[in-house]
Amino acid sequence: MAHKTQALFRDDAYLSTADATVVDRNDRGGIILDRTIFYATSGGQPGDTGYLERAGGSRIAIAATITGETKDEIIHVPAPEHAALAVGEKVKLAIDWERRHLLMRMHAACHLLTVVCPFPITGAAVSEDDSRVDFDIPDASFTREEVTADLMDLVRADHPIFTRLISDEELAANPGLVKSKNVRPPAGTGKICLVCIGENASVDSQPCGGTHVKSTGEIGEIHVGKIEKKGRENRRFRIRFGPMPAA
Ligand SMILES: [Zn+2]
Repeated sequence: MAHKTQALFRDDAYLSTADATVVDRNDRGGIILDRTIFYATSGGQPGDTGYLERAGGSRIAIAATITGETKDEIIHVPAPEHAALAVGEKVKLAIDWERRHLLMRMHAACHLLTVVCPFPITGAAVSEDDSRVDFDIPDASFTREEVTADLMDLVRADHPIFTRLISDEELAANPGLVKSKNVRPPAGTGKICLVCIGENASVDSQPCGGTHVKSTGEIGEIHVGKIEKKGRENRRFRIRFGPMPAA
């Protein structure tokens, strides 16, 4: 039976350490805890890496974090050659915070890109140095200079980013909230996490279960590295950190 792991990052994406108890091991060595700060790969955001520390101080490196039989079950995948943990054992958790913070900045930048380019999203992938969002765009007049300038206006405005839980009914009544063309947020769970940008969500709001920084200013300087044509109406935008390199 699948476990329901308490996902501490949902309430506070800034937790880099926590305590937890081992509740199970799966047959492939995956570690299941009662609660975790490790984000599991989903929604285009890669899972966290880091370590678990045992009472004696020895550490078990976590190479990946994935979901199990259900989205609520979070599996910590240890690096090879690790000591076996016992069910009931207490551990301290630490994620690779530097990497996660880059992912949070990048993930928030992807949301800003969907504000600047208000078109249906057909795919997205966040990574710590390069992220991409694919859109269905009928007109191809976007330039990376213009899109970068619009993104940086939103970054400099330092809009707050926060989450709000809404019901399935509220989402059904506002279909415009969903920008993804072929990915629907999971329905039937009763609560959907809406990621809002700006006072009263004036800049944007969309369902998302990932982790984001708390303001657009924290994203820092970004630029559109490339706009690639992926089919007649499909454009892939790549976002990178730092200023746009001189042509
Ligand atoms: Zn998001």
